[in-house]
Amino acid sequence: MPEATRPYNFSAGPATLPEPVLRRAAQEMLDWHGSGMGVMEMSHRGREFVSIAEAAESDLRQLLGVPARFRILFMQGGGLAENAIVPMNLSRGGQVDVVVTGAWSQKSAREASRYADVQVAASNEADGHTTLPTPAGWRLRTGAAYVHLCSNETIHGVEFHQLPDLSALGCDAPLVVDCSSHVLSRPMDWSRVGLAFAGAQKNIGPAGLTLVFVREDLLGHALPICPSAFDYRTVADNGSMFNTPPTYAIYIAGLVFQWIRDEGGVAALEARNIEKARLLYDAIDGSGGFYVNRVAVDCRSRMNVPFFLHDDRLNDAFLAQARERGLLQLKGHKSVGGMRASIYNAMPLRGVQALVDHLRDFARCHG
Ligand SMILES: *Cc1c(COP(=O)(O)O)cnc(C)c1O
Repeated sequence: MPEATRPYNFSAGPATLPEPVLRRAAQEMLDWHGSGMGVMEMSHRGREFVSIAEAAESDLRQLLGVPARFRILFMQGGGLAENAIVPMNLSRGGQVDVVVTGAWSQKSAREASRYADVQVAASNEADGHTTLPTPAGWRLRTGAAYVHLCSNETIHGVEFHQLPDLSALGCDAPLVVDCSSHVLSRPMDWSRVGLAFAGAQKNIGPAGLTLVFVREDLLGHALPICPSAFDYRTVADNGSMFNTPPTYAIYIAGLVFQWIRDEGGVAALEARNIEKARLLYDAIDGSGGFYVNRVAVDCRSRMNVPFFLHDDRLNDAFLAQARERGLLQLKGHKSVGGMRASIYNAMPLRGVQALVDHLRDFARCHG
């Protein structure tokens, strides 16, 4: 495989993809495996695409060690649609407890309240979403249908490095996890999860595909208003082909799963992600205040690193010079400002090194 020649892309999503995956997709664009068809042109029920989808699902199950009691669903609508689809399927119109840790869980709470009686069980809003509330202090209701959290807040850059053990807190409700922006960056503790969902466009593949991992016993309880195409039972019973799935996105996701396996699996990627995050946070923390990350050290995200320049009048120059060095899409989310570097699985260590070099050089020139 030739050295990467493209710039490094730090977008939060849709985000950079592994270059070998893009090259392979380009090679197979007009003719997939001698079938005479590109993947976009195939019937989703034909044997060619069925083999692509089955391989993607089984590779994913193997990579994340997903137990047999979980169904894996390939859905559409992204994370925001799941904010409605989950309560329509799991709440039975009753109580839902949400742990608010940033912009995404806040949106989840708001959307769920259209279908259920939502309570904010804990919130880190008072400190600007820079810490994580300790599970022992969460207000969990006995009758709640489920507890929702976002395990990696893409905008605020806080990450649960351990999922809470709800049963140890005396709560037998299933835990619902929005893991959109760090799925496959680390192993998943399935013993603590009832349902997990992830939009693909952060750490997996193209936008348009949403992965749902749902425990078998949670299927079959959808509210009558739930569209059939979003009823987990219906989707599961039809092997994610109740309606036409996002075939090309599934194909690319499948290539990404093969790439992860070739790279040594999720544990190997996790080790690399730890190293990448350490390099970047060390550069920020060691800049003598030129750059600042405000998140408490023990809940900093390994995937999304928001940071600020000490003087935001330098922001435009910082971004322009980054672009000149081939470092793209570093501008922070509009609600937070500053910068954000998303360093997902597909961002190589040398990309983070190039960013760290820019941080150092820019601070030297403007410090
Ligand atoms: C991006 C993101 C979403 C929203 O995804 P859409 O596909 O735009 O609906 C939800 N949750 C998290 C954690 C995200 O990062």
